Amino acid sequence: MKNILTCLRDAHDHSLLWVAGAVCIIGVYASLSLARHASRLEGKGRKLWAVVAIIAAGCTAWATHMIGLLAFQPGMPSGFDPLLTFTSLLFTIFGIGLAISLSIGSRDRRRRAFAGVILGLSIALLHYLGQAAYLVTGHVNWDYELIALSLIFSIPMFSFAIIVSGEKRPALRQAAAPLLLGAIALLHFCGMAALGLTFDPRIGLPPSTLPPGVIAPIVAAVSVTLLVLALLGLRFSTAARAQLARDRTRMKQLTDLAMEGLAICQGGMICSVNASLAKLVGCTQEALSGQSIGVILPEISLESLSEHQEQDGGLLNQEGIKIPVRLLCKTVMIGSSKHTVVAIRDQRDRLRTEQKMRTLAFTDTLTGLANRLQFNQSLSSQCDRTYEASEHFALILLDLDRFKFVNDTFGHAMGDELLKRVGKRLSACAANGTMIARLGGDEFAVIVDVADAENVAEKIVDLLERPFLINGSVIDIAASVGIAISPIDGNNPSLLSRSADLALYSAKGSGGNTYRYFEREMSDKAHARQQLELDLRRALIREEFEVYYQPQVDPLDGRYQGAEALVRWRHPDRGMVAPMDFIPLAEEIGLICPLGEWVLRVACEEAAGWAPHLTVAVNLSSVQLRDSALSERVMQILEETGLPASRLELEITETAFIQDEALTYETLHALRALGVRISMDDFGTGYSSLSYLRRFPFNKIKIDKSFVRQVPEDRDSVAIIQAVTSLAVKLGMTVTVEGVETPEQQAFTVTEGCNQIQGYLISRPIDSNALRALFKEAMQSAA
Ligand code: C2E
Ligand code: CA
Ligand code: CA
Repeated sequence: MKNILTCLRDAHDHSLLWVAGAVCIIGVYASLSLARHASRLEGKGRKLWAVVAIIAAGCTAWATHMIGLLAFQPGMPSGFDPLLTFTSLLFTIFGIGLAISLSIGSRDRRRRAFAGVILGLSIALLHYLGQAAYLVTGHVNWDYELIALSLIFSIPMFSFAIIVSGEKRPALRQAAAPLLLGAIALLHFCGMAALGLTFDPRIGLPPSTLPPGVIAPIVAAVSVTLLVLALLGLRFSTAARAQLARDRTRMKQLTDLAMEGLAICQGGMICSVNASLAKLVGCTQEALSGQSIGVILPEISLESLSEHQEQDGGLLNQEGIKIPVRLLCKTVMIGSSKHTVVAIRDQRDRLRTEQKMRTLAFTDTLTGLANRLQFNQSLSSQCDRTYEASEHFALILLDLDRFKFVNDTFGHAMGDELLKRVGKRLSACAANGTMIARLGGDEFAVIVDVADAENVAEKIVDLLERPFLINGSVIDIAASVGIAISPIDGNNPSLLSRSADLALYSAKGSGGNTYRYFEREMSDKAHARQQLELDLRRALIREEFEVYYQPQVDPLDGRYQGAEALVRWRHPDRGMVAPMDFIPLAEEIGLICPLGEWVLRVACEEAAGWAPHLTVAVNLSSVQLRDSALSERVMQILEETGLPASRLELEITETAFIQDEALTYETLHALRALGVRISMDDFGTGYSSLSYLRRFPFNKIKIDKSFVRQVPEDRDSVAIIQAVTSLAVKLGMTVTVEGVETPEQQAFTVTEGCNQIQGYLISRPIDSNALRALFKEAMQSAA
């Protein structure tokens, strides 16, 4: 160590050492600026300037070293071996070139470490080869330990310097230059200190020796060339900087046109922002330039942004409010340097619109309540929660009673207004935040705690029972409410809804304006009904139906006048099923039309084989009467079976008129026009509006069996039969009394002047064979 310091202090011309330092700095600047210039170019120019930069770097090291040597004052004549001196220069250029080409652009630390070793070795070679080229008139002794030490310490320093020069962190990168300088100085001064010179006049310098006086101008020329190159590099840099400034200005002008916010960044710093971004942040464009991008995008690092996929982020504005934004970046070359343009799109409008659309998608526009979609989601998440945390809840379904009537009578606008009011009243029935939904039509649903269910249901029934005053009209409706409890009555949305539906159905079935909890039997009943429906659909295909006949006679002389056709279902498991147990269902599921047509065809075929004075009566469902093609069908069947229209009677009940009066009248007139006779069946059981009799010319009135059962004892029944009979006579209709079971009842019908009787007294409904036998027997006894 002492050696080194003494060598530095005493053996060197200090002013030349300063020159060496200056040449080194100028040379490094020249090489770096030319290298940067090369990197801005493409093709041949790039290669050319890269080679110039490498030669400049080699020359810098060489010239610095040579000036260092010239500064050395050994105190005896000295000179330089020309071959070794120029070989050292070539080696240096080659070594530096190799090290640079290995390390440039590589992030691989091992590769950089290797490049550093090569650089170290080439600089060491420069030194020791250069020193070996240093000739004196005396003996040269090398301190090999010091040389070894200089290599052991400096080579890793070179290696380390090249490693850190490629690191991402700027602080590390900045350590590269001092490390390099340290390593070079270490090599030089160790090398000089390791050189032991002893003057010996006997040893002369070889004739080829170049004296310092010759070498100095060469070194000076090289140094001046380096200075020229540095100036050239400076010019290039200035031009590049001016170009960059122009490009940035143009870029900024362009970005100012964009609607979305744009920030042009370089290495995490903002170079400029456009007007839109400045507006979004709430400050001037100038205020943002030069700031770190992290100031406005605190959670984002530029490296993490994709060039292809937008990404969500938060933009911090001047007031410290985080604005939701979408980010996209793009790398662009401005001048010759890489910049990142960050596009920042404000998402507030889009999010607001989305929120609005979501609200719309989940809201029933008429009532403002939740719609079916939201209800379904809410119900299924409630069911999941019940499953996980066994939290019970109740599903309340409700349906308005008489809503259809309001809609039909007052019109749809009124119906809509009513639904709105119902929505308002429902909202008053449960606590704020309760899920209340309109599922469609006049169906609503509420989800509440089990403990509140009864209370809420009671309130609903009570509030909806109160009249509504809409546009001056008083409207009376009511609600039928079904309650099902999760998970007991159903552990998933569809089972639970079904249970609540069945409870609602039961409430409706019991007259409405009430609530019902779901009970197991309801689902048993529903299940049975479902089974029956299935069986019924199959029955027609499997020909399980039969037609029975009940004879009709003249009460005066007991002569047969005809028979009523009554359908029977011979169920494969259940045996004979009565019509009352399946006709209503067949009507509901639309099966009555094919079934009724089948009965009509069979009955007509059968009656065509009877004596020509005998008629056949067939029952028509009100559903069949709504079919506008009915009369055509009847005509076709009569034609096919050959039965004269006058021998067919069609029985209809009053319900047919309630449903669609106009259409019913039209169909009945068409049937009458065919010559078919029409009877009013079950008279006295329904609305029994006499206006029906006046408006439509029936051929016959059939007094219901419920009146006959109580005669002659019950005076009211007697009075009704008497009244109907006299009315029928006046309107030109005949009267049939059904359900005659006793001779007394028959005698009564005779006194009252009824035209026909039908009942167990004469015969129960029987199959066609039995009926034919009956008719035949009567013919024979008459003969
Ligand atoms: P309905 O048209 O009033 O038929 C008379 C019903 O009274 C028959 O019941 C018959 O068996 C019963 N009956 C007859 N005499 C007496 C009696 O002396 N005492 C008592 N207690 N009952 C008597 P059924 O066959 O069970 O038919 C029930 C209802 O089913 C019929 O009432 C009719 O409305 C309907 N129906 C039967 N067949 C058909 C059909 O083919 N089409 C349509 N649409 N309805 C049918
Ligand atoms: Ca009948
Ligand atoms: Ca009847």
